[in-house]
Amino acid sequence: MLSSLRLTILSNQRSSIRLATAIRRLNLGTTATSYPTKHTGVNDEPYITPSFINNKFIKSELSEWFDIHDPATNHVVSKVPQSTPQELEDAITSAHEAFKIWKEYSVIKRQGIAFKFVQLLRENMDRIASVIVLEQGKTFPDAKGDVLRGLQVAEAACNITNDFKGETLEVSTDMETKLIREPLGVVGSICPFNFPAMVPLWALPVVLATGNTTVIKPSERVPGAAMIICELAAQAGVPPGVINIVHGKHETVNKIIEDPRIKAITFVGGDKAGKYIYEKASALGKRVQANLGAKNHLIVLPDTDKKRFINALNGAAFGAAGQRCMAISVLVTVGKTKEWVADIIADAKKLRVGSGFDPSSDLGPLINPTSLTRSKEIIADSVAAGATLALDGTKFVPSEERFQKGNFLGPTILTDVKPGMRCYDEEIFAPVLSVVNVDTLEEAVDFVNKNPYGNGVSLFTHSGPAAQYFTKNIECGQVGVNVPIPVPLPMFSFTGSKASFLGDLNFYGKNGLMFLTKPKTITTLWKVDEIDEELKPSTSMPVQH
Ligand code: NAD
Repeated sequence: MLSSLRLTILSNQRSSIRLATAIRRLNLGTTATSYPTKHTGVNDEPYITPSFINNKFIKSELSEWFDIHDPATNHVVSKVPQSTPQELEDAITSAHEAFKIWKEYSVIKRQGIAFKFVQLLRENMDRIASVIVLEQGKTFPDAKGDVLRGLQVAEAACNITNDFKGETLEVSTDMETKLIREPLGVVGSICPFNFPAMVPLWALPVVLATGNTTVIKPSERVPGAAMIICELAAQAGVPPGVINIVHGKHETVNKIIEDPRIKAITFVGGDKAGKYIYEKASALGKRVQANLGAKNHLIVLPDTDKKRFINALNGAAFGAAGQRCMAISVLVTVGKTKEWVADIIADAKKLRVGSGFDPSSDLGPLINPTSLTRSKEIIADSVAAGATLALDGTKFVPSEERFQKGNFLGPTILTDVKPGMRCYDEEIFAPVLSVVNVDTLEEAVDFVNKNPYGNGVSLFTHSGPAAQYFTKNIECGQVGVNVPIPVPLPMFSFTGSKASFLGDLNFYGKNGLMFLTKPKTITTLWKVDEIDEELKPSTSMPVQH
């Protein structure tokens, strides 16, 4: 399989705009019908991740390459470059030049391309998911979910002909004001490792539909899905230069922040990088939307359906190995539901930890050994601070030898947790659930409201009045009742709040459209009546309508 993944150097060719770098064109090694279905061996040669500039895959004139490891085996599966300064310059120039052409495409034409893009994403869902399994470690069905949630944003973007309608009003006799929204120009997108397809697709379809162009920096740990996505966009008819993909770490991020041709930045990732990017880019006058870290609570009342609640909780806490920004990481038991912990543990023990390509696996490995070590340290520190290790996943060892060097952590449950312990204060981003006990719903709501984050929260109950009290009083951007991961579908926006979001307008939905466009009002006067006014300039503000 690896040979089909390997990129083929085609030839040295000139791009349609002048790029100063000598470029070498490549092809992706996967197709809609040929993609990895198993892990690579230690002797397999890693494939090269190209950049995408001007609708061409380009092998970097490398300054530095980073290894991409398969988290299940820690074999190196790919190498991704730190794009050179010239490549970064080329990508931004390409997007800047293409904006002049793309913004002139009619909205109907852009919509046609959006429909085709959706179709191609659907046809290539398994292909994209397979690369996610290899680079990120998710189970194959979960990786397909990653693609699907991004695809849904692309589907919603097909409604651009309705969403993009302006407003007009005859504000005075023969005078009309029209409000339209125009694209901003080049938008930079900086993405995290945990949703290699969904997060690039949170912005890309809306960026395209609104007439903007883009430079995307996928996570240097999982760039493969984004590469396929841009290939499909080009196939759908997106012209050269509209989408560009560059790679790397701080150097690439700094160029995106600092280049004056980039007008807005969409960021999804951790707090440290997000605050840095938000503050620096805002100070330079750019629009920024930044989705950051989280600590999501699930409150359970005794009147709920216990079995349904446990299934929902364990799926939301341990699915994707807890590496979802909306994963439930804290369970708040109210009253006698603290006695249900034994049943939660019994069910969590049934979850199978293993390779993402194994259909029987429920959760895969963590992204890297650092993440595994950090999770174990947080668990140990929390136990030292008084928490009880009610289910210990730290000793999990896969039975197959080739996975024994993988970053696996079994579902872990800590009880007697209190604020001040690392497992409560920090986002662990691993299959670790902290359990806190309170006596009443009011106490639970107060407890959750004190947490600085505001990405997601959920209540499980059969009581309408309790749900009503909860939804009115809880301070969090995405609230679920009997829904463990309450992310709305993309006809709404992803509305994380408090410390989980920096900016004013959230990703996709109406907010996303507003973020990626600027308003313009056009006021016109075409007098129908004969001129009866005195023909002289009026120097005062009008006082009559
Ligand atoms: P990360 O912050 O390490 O990386 C995100 C991006 O920022 C990457 O492209 C990376 O190259 C870049 N980056 C990292 N450190 C940087 C720095 N110091 N300066 C400039 N750029 C930097 O995040 P991650 O580990 O890839 O992703 C996990 C985090 O993302 C978690 O905290 C998770 O909660 C968060 N996340 C949030 C949401 C949300 O919607 N709120 C969604 C997905 C992930």
